[in-house]
Amino acid sequence: MPSRLPPVPTPPSLTGSAGDYLDAFGLLAFRPEIRNSATRRDTVFEIPEYVTIARQMAETLTGKRITQGTLGNSPHKFVWYNLQPDEFSAAVKGKVVGKAYTRGRWLFIPLDPGYVLVFGECGGKILFHKLASMLPQKYHLSLHFDDGSALSATTQMWGAMELYEKGKELERQYIKGMRTTPTEPGFTTAYLSNLMKESIASGFKTVKAILTQGQLIPGLGNAIAQDIMFKAKLHPRQPLDALQKSHIEKLHRAIIGTLQEAIRLGGRNDELDLYGSPGKYVRLMDKNAVGQPCPECAAKIEDMSYLGGTCYFCPTCQRLL
Ligand SMILES: [Zn+2]
Repeated sequence: MPSRLPPVPTPPSLTGSAGDYLDAFGLLAFRPEIRNSATRRDTVFEIPEYVTIARQMAETLTGKRITQGTLGNSPHKFVWYNLQPDEFSAAVKGKVVGKAYTRGRWLFIPLDPGYVLVFGECGGKILFHKLASMLPQKYHLSLHFDDGSALSATTQMWGAMELYEKGKELERQYIKGMRTTPTEPGFTTAYLSNLMKESIASGFKTVKAILTQGQLIPGLGNAIAQDIMFKAKLHPRQPLDALQKSHIEKLHRAIIGTLQEAIRLGGRNDELDLYGSPGKYVRLMDKNAVGQPCPECAAKIEDMSYLGGTCYFCPTCQRLL
């Protein structure tokens, strides 16, 4: 298998919203239907969805032998493959699925011997089908297994679906040099405090910026960040350099606590798990909250556009310091 680098149209940042990303290519002007779907909901998996799908894959797919693998029966401009369809099919045939795992916004599925299938920066549907006949009509990747079951992946906005010789995936942009993620033990309050200094120096000077921009905290995105900021009682535009130690501790607790809860509940309720069921985590701060009373103080929740995505916040609980 060739080990060339994937021909990805690398965006400046994949941590913003869908509209943010497409704006980077000047595409929204030509694709108003994408703008609408991008602003209607966040369509990108974040840590809770990746952790849920990786766990379910490890439970369900481990040990299955691949009889057939296909790349994309439905053309899609924003699916990034690193192989031609025939190269992919030849490489995966006969391989056995190892235990899937995740890091940040990347999902790794060992295909033994010798390969790793990688899904990254994606949203949409990654689904297990007990019977291959239940595959959706359109998909961007499928694997058929020797027990008659199958996996399909269909991205809604964009996403990487790449196959690497084992170890080569670590050289891929965004995986190589990925910072500590909040699900790792190294993500301590002291780590966050240092990251803030780095964030400010890099021009990401506000609370929303450190949470969602520049791959500073891999795996967080605009959806979960809203609840984190609400729980930390911090305004999205709050300058980081005004935060005291107690604020940083509170923000750290909010990041860890919100993620733990969303992981425990199997991801957000507007995303699907491997079995096609929605998660059970209902966001406190999303478009449905606008105009509704804050759960803590009863002030009306507001929204504003900021840093490539809509922010939802309580004007009383989340005052600028
Ligand atoms: Zn409030």
